[in-house]
Amino acid sequence: MSLNPVRAAAQESIVTRENLIDGRWQPASDGRTVDVVNPSDGQVFARIARGTAADIDAAVRAARKAFEEGPWSRMTAVERGRILTKLGAKILEHFEELAQLEAADTGKPMKQARADITAAARYFEFYGSAADKFHGDVIPFLDGYMVTVVRDPKGVTGHIIPWNYPAQMFGRTVAPALAMGNCTVLKPAEEACLTPVRLAALAMEAGLPPGVLNVVTGIGEEAGAALSSHPGIDFLSFTGSPEVGTLVQIAAAKNHIGCVLELGGKSPQIVFDDADFDAAVPVVVNAIVQNGGQTCSAGSRVLVQKAIYDKFVGRVAERFAQLRVGSSTMDLDCGPLISATQKKRVSGFIERAANDRIGVLAQAKVADGAPADGYYVAPTLFGPVPRENALAREEVFGPVLSIISFEDEADAVKLANGTDYGLVAGIWTANGGRQMRVAKAMRCGQVFVNGYGAGGGIELPFGGVKKSGHGREKGFEALREFCHSKTIVFKHG
Ligand code: NAD
Repeated sequence: MSLNPVRAAAQESIVTRENLIDGRWQPASDGRTVDVVNPSDGQVFARIARGTAADIDAAVRAARKAFEEGPWSRMTAVERGRILTKLGAKILEHFEELAQLEAADTGKPMKQARADITAAARYFEFYGSAADKFHGDVIPFLDGYMVTVVRDPKGVTGHIIPWNYPAQMFGRTVAPALAMGNCTVLKPAEEACLTPVRLAALAMEAGLPPGVLNVVTGIGEEAGAALSSHPGIDFLSFTGSPEVGTLVQIAAAKNHIGCVLELGGKSPQIVFDDADFDAAVPVVVNAIVQNGGQTCSAGSRVLVQKAIYDKFVGRVAERFAQLRVGSSTMDLDCGPLISATQKKRVSGFIERAANDRIGVLAQAKVADGAPADGYYVAPTLFGPVPRENALAREEVFGPVLSIISFEDEADAVKLANGTDYGLVAGIWTANGGRQMRVAKAMRCGQVFVNGYGAGGGIELPFGGVKKSGHGREKGFEALREFCHSKTIVFKHG
């Protein structure tokens, strides 16, 4: 059967993005590709290289050569910082182009895509200027000795990132690794990786030497598994699901290397009876709707004190019902989910909640004009959700918000800490003592008081405990992950 000529012409004009290995763009070793779909309309609009184990091997070798022989790890931190800062400026020069690419690839509304490109630039500005400000130590020791502790780069670092914030994730993991003098191999997600590929091209233009940043696109079980198990890697940085995080950690253990894992979350927002509703309601709603709920730090559980339950939940429901969902270019409150698979998964949670007879308090609308083949799911507010129900404990990774009620402060703390995850928590109360007590009691990596910043803040150390992962990204903490200390003892008599 021959292809319709219009579709055939469209297919012909689709661009294929190649891998970046040792400063050269090249197709996958076996020439295979993966189709890239726009989640807003379900149409293929680009192709990427389907990287192989041989491509990963070539990329790791190039990074090793660059690390051992090239100028990067020997440059002064000031010089490295200048190149990273230049990349930050280049990202801003190409701002609109990158935002449109990110929106087409992920389906996110344009305003979110623009915010993400600003954040990607910020990572390079921040780590460009931090490169020469992360110092070693001098240790007082025995008489006649001088002891210094210097920070050496790990060497060749492997980076595996997800599809939800491709541009931001690129900056978040690659910028601190480069700032410390490492040479890197990145495997972005097959569902959305066009901005990381474009950012790598801009990095070359900014003056990054060949081999310092290599990008191999493709399938997780192929290129991703080959990267995480490669014996030439000195450290791994992984962001994604807890299931794949386990595989990456096993692979790291087999090579006796360390890893930082940023996994999922079921982050609570605790609303006490003295909370400022006007401040809390829009933030609580946005924290689940941002990026269609496909944010690891989404505020996906709202714990509400019994005394204000009806009043507060009524306000949230009112706002929820007004949300509008549409394509990235319609630029509404919420875009589509990333793929048909993700739509099915999230819809499954909604159907099971209905079967469990959990009340739907509000449901937003998919706007007229949203393309029929896009992966849209209407944001849905459930409550009261029983504490043991999947909606109260499992990560949905979609625009589904669970409301759960609590009695008092002790009950709230127990409930907030009572899942397998521990990434972020929000606390809404005017009581200063309670703010301190509850913040200290949270078992997670970040706590916001009277605010919530899902994904925000390049300067703020970020990461999880329990099933949310370990190690820290962002801020100066990330620089610590990408180096090891070396103690040098001088006996001078
Ligand atoms: P995923 O784990 O399936 O994929 C993440 C990355 O791992 C992709 O690049 C994928 O190609 C790769 N991968 C898949 N199988 C692999 C394998 N066997 N070996 C090596 N690499 C492999 O996750 P996802 O579906 O892309 O993202 C959703 C999940 O990621 C959610 O659970 C979410 O909470 C989590 N996430 C966490 C953070 C964070 O910062 N903590 C950020 C974004 C997403």
